[in-house]
Amino acid sequence: MTNSVPEIPLPGSQSIPQLGFGVFQVPPQDTPETVRQALAAGYRHLDTAAMYRNEAGVGDASRTSGLNREDLFVTTKLWNSDQGRKPATRAFARSLDQLDFDYIDLYLIHWPVPSRDLYVESWRALIELQEEGRARSIGVSNFHIAHLERIIEETGVVPAVNQIELHPGHQQPELRDFHRRHGIVTEAWSPLGQGAALNEPTIAEIADELGRTPAQVVLRWHIQLGNVVIPKSVTPARIEENFDIFGFELGEERMRRLAQLDAGKRIGPHPDEFAKA
Ligand code: NAD
Repeated sequence: MTNSVPEIPLPGSQSIPQLGFGVFQVPPQDTPETVRQALAAGYRHLDTAAMYRNEAGVGDASRTSGLNREDLFVTTKLWNSDQGRKPATRAFARSLDQLDFDYIDLYLIHWPVPSRDLYVESWRALIELQEEGRARSIGVSNFHIAHLERIIEETGVVPAVNQIELHPGHQQPELRDFHRRHGIVTEAWSPLGQGAALNEPTIAEIADELGRTPAQVVLRWHIQLGNVVIPKSVTPARIEENFDIFGFELGEERMRRLAQLDAGKRIGPHPDEFAKA
């Protein structure tokens, strides 16, 4: 198995491994063991959030892994109810404490929550955290073009990353194009469409043609588009399967067939409306 994961440079001296491991819906008590399996499989990039309530397990598995902290890339996120300048700073300190780390590699605003109109203030708090070195890189999640334009215009600071729902059924071409033009890294959440993409006949066909699995085809497609991907699984064989995507390539014709699967169909909430506290 070829296991060198490409890295994408971020502003400053950091770079982000293009393949990471997501832990949304991994129960807190199972998180240390699941993350240990991911680290043993070769993943060095972990994606958690305050809202997942499993930051402590991510920190625990990282600290006991025998790996150097500098060799890991850990992302966590500011939850909606903690938006605002002071609450965001306090929430960051809680996340750091849960992880038991000295710094976080990437801190994201989880959702814009336009109805509260606090995302610009929250972004200012993240800028300060980065200036203090406690968050090495900062970014956002689920931001649309209008939200991105507003934070850039009001603060002059471009997010390093926007983590968005992205899979073959929901390819977000306009937003990806905006990212490209502004140097924002596109990170795909639910990169496998939470498993739904794997039943798509075209994907199964391509997998058969290449002697690969549907999950590997979808993840490889993301990698070739330049997206960062953070698939989740709690099954050891799938954790390994999802990591084994660097020993083959999709040619232009197969990339075109996959591009045709875009149906603009979300599986998650709409970022303009989502306001769960
Ligand atoms: P995903 O697309 O990674 O799908 C995960 C599901 O796909 C698994 O539960 C399993 O059922 C199936 N699966 C995984 N590997 C498989 C394989 N090899 N073969 C067959 N089935 C397989 O969906 P996700 O967990 O929603 O997203 C991944 C990560 O993205 C999360 O863990 C989280 O870190 C992040 N995320 C972020 C947001 C956000 O708002 N920023 C929202 C959702 C998820």
